[in-house]
Amino acid sequence: MRPKPEKGESFIGYVVRLTELNGYDTPSWILSLCGIDYMELRWKFTFVFSLSDKLRNLAELTENPITNLTSLLYLPTGSRERYGIEDEYNFNGAFLNRSIIRPHCPKICPKCLKESAYARRVWDCSLVTACPIHECKLIDVCPKCKSRIRCVRNRLSVCSCGCDWRETGAELLSQEELAVINSILKHTQYSKTGRRTFISFSRAIRKGKADSILVTASSVRPLQKNSVLFTNTCIET
Ligand SMILES: [Zn+2]
Ligand SMILES: [Zn+2]
Repeated sequence: MRPKPEKGESFIGYVVRLTELNGYDTPSWILSLCGIDYMELRWKFTFVFSLSDKLRNLAELTENPITNLTSLLYLPTGSRERYGIEDEYNFNGAFLNRSIIRPHCPKICPKCLKESAYARRVWDCSLVTACPIHECKLIDVCPKCKSRIRCVRNRLSVCSCGCDWRETGAELLSQEELAVINSILKHTQYSKTGRRTFISFSRAIRKGKADSILVTASSVRPLQKNSVLFTNTCIET
């Protein structure tokens, strides 16, 4: 089966969906058919952050125009050559430091998956820890077996322990967290269409609204001190 990527789908999520629909045990079958190093994808993720010739193989295998697949990647913006600063990566139109984009640390919204079973790109951003559509926290640990959700898996919405995340209850945000999220949404003019969200999100960061975003992030999963400092440094530009 050769489904097309959904609008706003993550690259890894798409590969996992292909794996599941075709009944493979692991995404490595599809990736090795395309000449993509499975271990590279699993540990370094350079493939998601660069344009590789091998993407053409995946496009042929899945009968996609190459642009369908390049739009799933987070490509460097060339800021290193132009400004001599650390490379930023294009995240739905916003330019973010690579440390903020974390496809290797997946989070999911059970309710989004129940509505439509594909992994949203926005979940790859470490600052996004809640779903504004369902006003609930994203989960990164299986509620049943307490294992971290793995990015490379053979079923998109079901854990290896058998727990179907779509049927688990999502933890609603507290009034305090909801107020913070609503404050962010007000500044970011959240739209459900995706791209505009992150352009606005990026503007909000540049206007110094990042504090409330970090409060939200740290209230859900405390960030390490260094990562907060690093994040602040890179978003104050
Ligand atoms: Zn949701
Ligand atoms: Zn589990």
